[in-house]
Amino acid sequence: MSVLVYIEHADGSVKKNSLEAVSYAKALSDKQGEGEVIAVALGSVAQEELVKVGHAGASKVVHVNDEKLNAGIIQAHSEALAQVYGKVGAKTLILAKSSLGDAVAARLAVKLNAGLVSNVVELPVTASGYKVKRSIYTGKAFAETIVNKEHKILAVKKNAVDLKTDGSDAAVETVTLDIHAENFATKITSTDKAKGDVLLPEADIVVSGGRGMKGPENWGMIEDLAKELGAATGCSKPVSDIGWRPHHEHVGQTGVKVAPSLYIAVGISGAIQHLAGVNSSKCIVVINKDADAPFFKAADYGIVGDAFEVLPKLTEAVKAL
Ligand code: FAD
Repeated sequence: MSVLVYIEHADGSVKKNSLEAVSYAKALSDKQGEGEVIAVALGSVAQEELVKVGHAGASKVVHVNDEKLNAGIIQAHSEALAQVYGKVGAKTLILAKSSLGDAVAARLAVKLNAGLVSNVVELPVTASGYKVKRSIYTGKAFAETIVNKEHKILAVKKNAVDLKTDGSDAAVETVTLDIHAENFATKITSTDKAKGDVLLPEADIVVSGGRGMKGPENWGMIEDLAKELGAATGCSKPVSDIGWRPHHEHVGQTGVKVAPSLYIAVGISGAIQHLAGVNSSKCIVVINKDADAPFFKAADYGIVGDAFEVLPKLTEAVKAL
């Protein structure tokens, strides 16, 4: 028996939320005797990166290095995953909750006749049925789902589990599958990548600005702090609507949903639509001159003050570390 984990990667690196999914699978295996943790990576990714998946808890990585899988065509990925799932004799598939993860998981659930739960936040409880806790209503509540299928697919919410890093290197096995991606309905002809040193959806630290920044000419202060912290920059919706910042930086219910270790919100009021995109962050720091700004209720740390005074001091303090 084994637990299979679907690994997402970008620009040659395995994504952090996929490593969290591996750690979740390892905890599941240790606690509930679900067998060996095997990860599967599709498309081009460096061998050294795959070896490191072992540190998060996988003993083996199956690498399907077929260039047809590089375009991220969902049908091709779900087809490849179904084949690997059958080959390794898994009963459970774990993956990270993400747009690609959700799309692949839904197709796989149909192919494998599996029970699928997304946004999972804890290990299942198996005392009476297979009960899985998941986050709902953009993190405002939890629901428990009973899975009564033999095969199970669990998509783990970002930051819901601690990333394990003390495992040993994984063995990497390269396999060839019979994938006919050219027959699938979707064809990606070109991709337009968001620019920036650190990409927002993947960032571990985000510095985000709102209308309180007064204008695009002041964004240098946000960028300076982000640079010192190795962070991505984000913004509230009105900021991108007015054109102060590009749309791909807009965070919230209708924009990018982020789950960094640290989210610094500067001059953002904290409307529910903005919070819906940031409430999976591990630590939220709010800088706002209005002590009654709603964002303070969601903050782990708050600074009541003028952004134009606080930001340069904060950047200097980080530089001095
Ligand atoms: P404001 O509400 O104008 O707040 C500016 C803040 O800056 C204030 O709290 C003020 O005290 C503070 N400030 C002012 N000057 C300073 C200073 N010098 N120093 C420090 N602080 C200062 N919004 C999103 O962000 N993301 C979404 O995805 C999103 N989706 C939406 C979907 C729908 C259907 C709707 C109706 C709205 C949506 N919104 C979204 C908009 C949302 O409701 C808020 O209007 C928006 O988030 C407010 O942006 P803001 O905080 O930058 O601006």
